[in-house]
Amino acid sequence: MRNTVSVEIDLKAIKHNFTCVNKYSESAAVIPVIKADAYGHGAEEVAKALENMRIYAFGVAYLCEAIILRESGIKNKIIVFFDTTNPSDIIKYDIIPVIYNLTTAQQLSRAALKLNKQIDVHINIDTGMGRLGFLFDRDITIINDKVSKLAGINITGVMSHFSEADLLDREFAKIQLERFVNAKKELPNINKNAIWHISNSAAVMTFKDARLDAVRPGLMLYGYSPFGDADTDLKPAMKVMTRLLDVRLIPAGKPISYGRTFVTKRQSLIGVLPIGYADGYSRLYSNQAHVIIRGQSAPIVGRVCMDVTMADVTDIIDVQVNDDVILLGDGTSAYELSKIAQTIPYEVIIALGNTNSRRYENNGFKGRVSDPF
Ligand SMILES: *Cc1c(COP(=O)(O)O)cnc(C)c1O
Repeated sequence: MRNTVSVEIDLKAIKHNFTCVNKYSESAAVIPVIKADAYGHGAEEVAKALENMRIYAFGVAYLCEAIILRESGIKNKIIVFFDTTNPSDIIKYDIIPVIYNLTTAQQLSRAALKLNKQIDVHINIDTGMGRLGFLFDRDITIINDKVSKLAGINITGVMSHFSEADLLDREFAKIQLERFVNAKKELPNINKNAIWHISNSAAVMTFKDARLDAVRPGLMLYGYSPFGDADTDLKPAMKVMTRLLDVRLIPAGKPISYGRTFVTKRQSLIGVLPIGYADGYSRLYSNQAHVIIRGQSAPIVGRVCMDVTMADVTDIIDVQVNDDVILLGDGTSAYELSKIAQTIPYEVIIALGNTNSRRYENNGFKGRVSDPF
């Protein structure tokens, strides 16, 4: 991993965002979702920041992520959403797998009996996401008559997932919730103390009826609303910076970067940034995004290369080689970048956070980054 880009993570902002979740979700328990290395923020560090908060469990996608958390000393419950492949590690590391079909439930049951253990599991019901889970209108009897009777596994929770991460289609979310709540009536054999959960960030923020026993926010914890740069108390926790590698005086009429998609219209100062798509700075930002230098905005000009990107810094007063360049945070948001790249903020923060070395602040961002080079 190279060191020309610095990703700063503000753990205080993540704790603050967690308290925002609590304000929305009130008495519902919280399952902070820290898959994909906490959306590029570092799962171990984020888990340590939140481990003593009032949480039900952490949520990750795959077992290997859960094992890393256990090995770093995390004692909280950990739910693994998509991975039941290794029953002996599930038992060894005391992980809660989410069961999504009868075969894996039976495998877990056999493994538990062999080791004379009990495994707590949650069950996934597919109410319309179409990803994993027991189909709400076909498979509920399988859960009630078969899974619930398997020895060695205890069903301590039941989950489903909304197919709308931004709840643009509220009508379908309402239908999914109704299917989920109805399933409860068709599952008399499931422990009455099992916790039911379906809400992602969008639902936590705007769909009160869906809060149920627990909520599973991801994006909000990192300071972004699924509804765009809306007016919320959330604080983005990631700041991405680099430094100006060079500032070149270029006459009018000169092409900049691959494909000559930008030609200087005037004599210009062109800043050269040591970041490219290899560092998670999407090629789709070419000629579209902007960066912040000395508190002022500078447009990206020409194509983003693999390792290098150019910005027009002609209008930046007193600009100099080695100046700090803010690529994300303090004047540029992941939402803005995501619109340019026709994606969602999730992908923007994960791409930048997981390809660059991270630095942690416990008490808000400092002014200038320590030397990233
Ligand atoms: C990713 C994920 C979440 C969190 O979604 P956000 O939109 O980031 O809040 C919750 N539950 C499951 C099963 C997920 O995969």
